Amino acid sequence: MAPDGSGSDMKTIVASYAAELGFDLVQVASAEDFTEDQNVALERLRAGLMDGLPWYTEARIRRGTSPQELLPGARSIICLGVNYYQPDKPGPPPGNPAGKVARYARGRDYHKPMKNQMRAYVEGLRVVLDTPFAARWYVDDGPMLDRAAARRSGLGWTGKNTNLLAPNLGSWVFLGQVITDLEMEADPPLRKSCGACVRCIDACPTGAIVAPYTVDNARCISYLTIENRGPIPAELRPQMQDWVFGCDICQDICPVNRKAISSESVRWRMEPGPFLQRGRTEGPAQPGPESLDLVGLLEMSEEEFRRRFQGTPILRAKRAGLQRNACVALGNRLEAAAVPALRRALLNGESLVRGHAAWALGRIGTAEAQQALDEARVEEMDHQVLEEIADAQGAPSLRPESRTP
Ligand code: SF4
Repeated sequence: MAPDGSGSDMKTIVASYAAELGFDLVQVASAEDFTEDQNVALERLRAGLMDGLPWYTEARIRRGTSPQELLPGARSIICLGVNYYQPDKPGPPPGNPAGKVARYARGRDYHKPMKNQMRAYVEGLRVVLDTPFAARWYVDDGPMLDRAAARRSGLGWTGKNTNLLAPNLGSWVFLGQVITDLEMEADPPLRKSCGACVRCIDACPTGAIVAPYTVDNARCISYLTIENRGPIPAELRPQMQDWVFGCDICQDICPVNRKAISSESVRWRMEPGPFLQRGRTEGPAQPGPESLDLVGLLEMSEEEFRRRFQGTPILRAKRAGLQRNACVALGNRLEAAAVPALRRALLNGESLVRGHAAWALGRIGTAEAQQALDEARVEEMDHQVLEEIADAQGAPSLRPESRTP
């Protein structure tokens, strides 16, 4: 099936072969520098909006917006998309406190399988085009500004929460790019926008979307629960609801996303094993893949954490980070039944977890929770945890029935 030499014939093959290999979206962009996107990204970095991501540097931005630097002789960028949307399943049974997981993280980590799929695509394309060509491919852990490339190719437009919105699929799409020295006619960008809609801005509980198209990373629940290695700022904790890994609020509220269709690709679906275990054999039915048992997370050993979450994005949060998030979720849910588990975390967890367990106990504020704080205050040596305990002891309980006279 060698092309006849015309660019459009090549493009037809590039698109049809991508569909054959399971990509839901494919568009072609030119490989010129992304000058405007570079300026915007540099401005945001200098304004401190990417704080907390030390790897996101000026050098990385310059490299990621210069396709020629990534592949000398680059002519085109093949922009690919895979739909990962799966609707929520019915929630966990009452009495089984569960924390929410962002949709993209409910399956296997997509980076490796998607890169493998892209490698197979490039290698197969060389055969079907009967042309040797140079190529480099990226998923979102590489330097390439993936949303800028996708927008230029017409794969979607930028929403005010900075996500790329693809017609019919919304933002539930994994993006990949193949930079190549193949010369192809570029597709035009879409002439679409969010218009006057500001639902994502209004819905963000931490006020992280500080202006249309501008997210303050340090306020975003996604950053706070995943990349953040330290304590979660106390003033943001009450707004984080019960998210334990990532956040989909600004995507769930988006009218474009509400029309999204379920992914046909089983490759990205959750394999239920890791999520359906609680680390205990008895007890009520287990949460579905969209949620994690919060008490089970608190009680999980390092070995169990690795075993359960191997091959999933959740491993990135690390065990202490996930347990810190579980404490915040339990504190926000005012889960009195979780006090014994929080008490054990306060006495035995890592210092990061102990501090957040204290915060959660202070919010719950039952006599049992207060007693746990009193006990820990005597034993605790870490001054930051001691400060958390003191703050928690001074905090008014948010459970009205548990206030002591
Ligand atoms: Fe706000 Fe959540 Fe969207 Fe982050 S992911 S901008 S916290 S709604």
